[in-house]
Amino acid sequence: MIDSKAVGRIIDKYDQTKLAIGTLGSHSSLNIFKGAKEEGFRTVCICKEKDVIMYQKYPLVDELIIVKDFTELLNEKLQEHLRNLNVVLIPHGSFTAYLSTEQLTDNLNVPMMGNRQLLHWEANRKSQEEWLRQAGLRLPATFQSPDDIDRLIIAKLQGAKGGRGYFLANSPKSFYKKADEMIKRGLITKEDIDKIHLQEYALGVNVYPSYFSSILNDDVELLAMDRRYESAVDSIGKIPAQEQLEIDVIPTYTVVGNFPIVLRESLLPEVMRMGEKVHKKARELAPPGIIGPFCLETVITDDLKIYCFEISARIVAGTNVGIGTSPYAYLRYGENMYMGRRIAMELKEAVKQKRLHEVVA
Ligand code: AMP
Ligand code: AMP
Repeated sequence: MIDSKAVGRIIDKYDQTKLAIGTLGSHSSLNIFKGAKEEGFRTVCICKEKDVIMYQKYPLVDELIIVKDFTELLNEKLQEHLRNLNVVLIPHGSFTAYLSTEQLTDNLNVPMMGNRQLLHWEANRKSQEEWLRQAGLRLPATFQSPDDIDRLIIAKLQGAKGGRGYFLANSPKSFYKKADEMIKRGLITKEDIDKIHLQEYALGVNVYPSYFSSILNDDVELLAMDRRYESAVDSIGKIPAQEQLEIDVIPTYTVVGNFPIVLRESLLPEVMRMGEKVHKKARELAPPGIIGPFCLETVITDDLKIYCFEISARIVAGTNVGIGTSPYAYLRYGENMYMGRRIAMELKEAVKQKRLHEVVA
């Protein structure tokens, strides 16, 4: 485990007047780079050859480092290069999707904005649930064994990408039948079934509020809100029920984009309190708690209960809907504030206050 002392030693050697913001070229990198540029930082992008066009079309990157695979971020030579460029990395969904938690906590010798300790709490569904429950949030019930299923549930694979391979069942019988079909279709493996997470299906609409936890200001800000556009689940309604039955569709949740959302205003106080509570609990579990962006994945039911089923303790791609501005960022900051810029603002302020070591790990 790379601890804060080790990161502190790296930061001490940095020329903080020339700090650069770096990240992997995917997910929310344009958001991050635009914000970094607007706050006057140099930017460094670790990118695959096939994606270079994005950074040619949008002039946001000062230094492009081409890799074959994102796991090259673990190479000591590349890391040395990043350190020489005074890079602070901003982790996003592609970090956790293409690198393991252990690799991120143990083998990445480059300062990262955020709290590395929390990665372990976040990576494991059980500990994540414990965190959210102890924070006092409302969670969907979970089931230990498929044989206990007594209502509509969603079966989730460990570490699934974009909900691919998720399926619904409402009894042990339907679970085993669906699981069998999914295996036959090659969507999941037998091993996945042993590690599958069974969660009560909260019937309602998805809302993903994104917050920013400022260690410098000791405050949690609500900055953006989105919902996802998921294939195939969002397309099933286009087929009449008769055909749905005939082709026997199994809904999958592969994310292809996001929509901005503004919430019914009377729901906002609870959403704000949820963010506060989650950070407060994190502060107990892994001080100083969440550093920077985080997002709660919620479902709101027709009796206006807010269920939280997951947390991402980092920037989520849903904040891309707010590049430029979002109503919630506007209410707090006026024009031109969004997650990428808020990140850069915090780093800039940390340098100014000589507190950079408090916001990186
Ligand atoms: P990618 O680099 O696009 O493969 O993204 C890495 C991870 O982030 C994947 O597991 C995706 O499911 C997730 N992700 C990417 N884009 C979005 C998005 N727009 N909304 C929600 N999740 C996303
Ligand atoms: P996740 O991988 O946990 O982000 O879930 C992917 C998608 O599955 C979400 O965007 C939701 O549409 C759906 N989903 C996950 N968990 C639940 C739940 N407990 N109840 C209802 N829908 C869910």
